[in-house]
Amino acid sequence: MPTLGFDAGKQGSTPLARVFLSGIRASDLLATFGGMTETEPAIDLHEPTLPEVRMHVAMPNAPVEGKISATALCMRGKSASFTRHVEIDIEGTTLEGTFRAGQSFGVIPNGVDAHGKPHKVRLYSIASPSWGEDGFGRIIATTPKRLLAERAAQTPKDDALDHSLFVGVCSNWLCDQRVGSSIQLSGPNGKRFVLPTDPNAHDYLFLATGTGVAPFRGFLMELLEGPPARSPACATWTRCTSRIDLVMGVAYTNDLLYDGWIRELAKKHANFHYHTAVSRESRSDGSKGEYVHHFIDRQLSVSDGCMEGLRSPRTLIYICGLAGMQVGVFQTLVKHNITGFTKVGVELAGIPSSAWTTEQIKRRVRPTHRCMLEVY
Ligand code: NAP
Repeated sequence: MPTLGFDAGKQGSTPLARVFLSGIRASDLLATFGGMTETEPAIDLHEPTLPEVRMHVAMPNAPVEGKISATALCMRGKSASFTRHVEIDIEGTTLEGTFRAGQSFGVIPNGVDAHGKPHKVRLYSIASPSWGEDGFGRIIATTPKRLLAERAAQTPKDDALDHSLFVGVCSNWLCDQRVGSSIQLSGPNGKRFVLPTDPNAHDYLFLATGTGVAPFRGFLMELLEGPPARSPACATWTRCTSRIDLVMGVAYTNDLLYDGWIRELAKKHANFHYHTAVSRESRSDGSKGEYVHHFIDRQLSVSDGCMEGLRSPRTLIYICGLAGMQVGVFQTLVKHNITGFTKVGVELAGIPSSAWTTEQIKRRVRPTHRCMLEVY
């Protein structure tokens, strides 16, 4: 794994900007969760060591200005879920060279909200490897999707008859921007959803729903493709030989993101396996569509299914996408007696896992240091 030669002198000037984590054990971070009694020991010899990351170099109240350098739809086919691959040039800003694959950055869209106040920052995962799209950390990418929905009353105070079109604020704005447009940015954000210092010490299960695939594009480039020729990371990079599985969940086949590129990658690298879970189309055997955790369940229910790596202590799980997707995944792991990825609160001891409610799982089942979660 290359290091990008992070320069402590480039850190920002606010107290938060000075946060600089080095060689942390993931369990140190888990200790901050608090509030829940656990039934499993806190230390596991297979816990990953996480690399140094920089955070909050540019704060949302003092953002830097980047420029859109590329923008293109990235769905597999014609789809009503317009999702773009957007590249942003951050050369010469304090953000240049600061990101790790898996981290996020903030976007502050132009304009004001319904109350006339400037829009607040929204976070997007970088879809790039740590060396950026260009090899020098000067261009970062992300994967925004236009949000289109009808209004629906949420509280008795809302207009019950209003079902007019609602478009999300920031992702729509980001998708509208042309090459050359200016964009206000903050970051980096996030310290846990990153690859371990020694990638070959672990195997990987990446679970994505929709645009949650963004960080996995960066991870796969970093683990398998390597940096562009003549970039600094070339000197130290070696291809990861561990087993890597990606399960990508989408509503329709046409919604699959970066699909052509991912399929080519799987053809080139025998240690990488790409699986799809399509929820609103029947499967080839006529059975109904499925979510990511249904796919895992199906594989674990047959001998030698492709998810057997979950029984190995080398494996790390990374989950990215819709809030709540971890519930089905955790239930499936418990159902198949797979340990090491979840900590179960003592409150659930004695209750069969099949009887746990979604609320109990959300409150009482936590990921361990071998399970990284990035859900919104
Ligand atoms: P989406 O199209 O709404 O959903 C993707 C797939 O997930 C669909 O097949 C959907 O099925 C299925 N799904 C729904 N509920 C699920 C559950 N509880 N468990 C498992 N699968 C479930 O996804 P999206 O609109 O792209 O949204 C992705 C989410 O990822 C957003 O919330 C976004 O904030 C978050 N995210 C984005 C980034 C980024 O950088 N862009 C990074 C991290 C996270 P049905 O619709 O058929 O029910």
